[in-house]
Amino acid sequence: MAGEDPDYLAWIRLQACQFCDRPPPSHAHHHTGPRGKGQRAHDHNAMALCFDCHRHLHGASGPFKDWNHEERSNLQDELVVKHRQIYNDEECF
Ligand SMILES: [Zn+2]
Ligand SMILES: [Zn+2]
Repeated sequence: MAGEDPDYLAWIRLQACQFCDRPPPSHAHHHTGPRGKGQRAHDHNAMALCFDCHRHLHGASGPFKDWNHEERSNLQDELVVKHRQIYNDEECF
């Protein structure tokens, strides 16, 4: 199916939480973006978050309590790009 990259998702889960640096394994959270509503995002738009940060990001709670939708969206954009750069640098399989 288009948009799926199991290798990338497996790699994401081995990264530390991108928000609080908690060591892996992490959750792979998909950033759907403003147009992605109801649609599954491409696996390359995934980022590593620990259980707590993942839950809080979805619930706009905890550290994200005072963040508006745009701020949360921008953070995710940043993390997606950061992951892609690290992955491309490490790519050896
Ligand atoms: Zn975290
Ligand atoms: Zn998620």
